[in-house]
Amino acid sequence: MDSLLRKIPKVDEVLKHEQWQQLLVSYSQDAAKDALRAVLEELRLNIKQKKVTAIPPVERIIEETGRRAAELSKPGLRKVINGTGVVIHTNLGRSLLAKPAIDALVSIASNYSNLEYDLKIGKRGDRYEHCSSILQRLTGAEASLVVNNNAAAVLLVLDTFAQGKEVVIARGELIEIGGSFRIPDVMRKSGAILREVGTTNRTFSQDYERALHENTGLLMKAHTSNYRIRGFVHETTVTELVELGKRYRVPVFYDAGSGLLWPLKGGRAFDEPVITNFTHTGLDIISFSADKLLGGPQAGIILGKTAHIDAMKKNPLTRAIRPDKFTLAALEATLFLYIDEEKRSQIPTLEMIQQDETSLKRRASRLAAVLRARSSAGLSVSVVSLTSEVGGGSLPDVALPSYGLALEPRNMSLLLFEERLRKLETPIIARIGHDRLLIDVRTIRKVDEPLLISGIAAALADGT
Ligand SMILES: *Cc1c(COP(=O)(O)O)cnc(C)c1O
Repeated sequence: MDSLLRKIPKVDEVLKHEQWQQLLVSYSQDAAKDALRAVLEELRLNIKQKKVTAIPPVERIIEETGRRAAELSKPGLRKVINGTGVVIHTNLGRSLLAKPAIDALVSIASNYSNLEYDLKIGKRGDRYEHCSSILQRLTGAEASLVVNNNAAAVLLVLDTFAQGKEVVIARGELIEIGGSFRIPDVMRKSGAILREVGTTNRTFSQDYERALHENTGLLMKAHTSNYRIRGFVHETTVTELVELGKRYRVPVFYDAGSGLLWPLKGGRAFDEPVITNFTHTGLDIISFSADKLLGGPQAGIILGKTAHIDAMKKNPLTRAIRPDKFTLAALEATLFLYIDEEKRSQIPTLEMIQQDETSLKRRASRLAAVLRARSSAGLSVSVVSLTSEVGGGSLPDVALPSYGLALEPRNMSLLLFEERLRKLETPIIARIGHDRLLIDVRTIRKVDEPLLISGIAAALADGT
């Protein structure tokens, strides 16, 4: 093995090879050398692990360096085409922004702004002011605070009001959201003491009441975003908790999770808390995500009484979880779309959820026809009915009837086809079901249809 390791060509030797110059057409000497070092390091490792038993010729090493340089020159984070039908796909970036939100973000990113400057008085201002007037206008809440995400919002509320104190919460609401957000863990981190009451399926107002004492800091309710308990159940309502909180002078906090600002059009009985239904109940604090059903950028929105919001603003933790100017710009622009019912459909998340079956079927049929014409022999294409999910840990029970493409490549395995699509310049993320590759059209943006078609053709073409 040692003799093999010694035979690995030195960087300088490779640089002298005539083929090396070809790399320099596309890459700088530095970038090409970085790639070469990575290739030689991998070769060293493979020899040590006995995966390689002979040194490849320098020409092959240079070829591999070219591939590596191409990889290294691409950003890691990039656009993909979401063919999964999961609208708020956390792994694929949750909500897409509406055009006005993107425009606001670009303008604020490329110019100076009044982020923390009060234009009225010409002095230092407050970054939280920007979203607060629109939030007040939309929800009627007294005051608001925007933080990095809803997990941070929950942490901040607990840290501000319950450090060293008990937080009373129903056992059935000790939720875990993906990405290891668990209510009991967040409580521990904030220094709050978890006081769970009731049973998994039934919790009554009296259960909370019995748990209250002088060291209670907060009454908490959490929306069971990603699961539902059905059958013999009883849940204590926000109104009951507010009544209890008033009587015992304990603030009441509701982690609403996704946050639907208004009921969705079409009156579908979506079982998600509507934020505006709670801002007049006397609830002290409510928090929710901005990039789930709201359809904005990643952020956590906290609404509440002025005294509570002020207490949170004074907490040093707030500085560590404050949103950046891009988030605030995109969020404010998204919220503005909610003022006008007509404009709400510009929010891609809402638009995708509300697409009707007929138009989805039409799109799927049109795409199928184009694909059949383009890849005649190599691919069998059919239009199938599918069910899409809302995702993002919201509406776990809701299956949205949808349409899509079922693809069967004739000259390669389904797994290889799926992998090739995933490794395209613009990756196409699809799922496999019933021995076919399924692409739900609900989450395919119309502007990406040509890319989808050419991507599928490319995945079929190379190496067949
Ligand atoms: C999604 C969710 C969170 C976490 O929100 P992020 O914005 O992802 O940090 C917290 N609580 C509930 C109930 C949720 O649904």
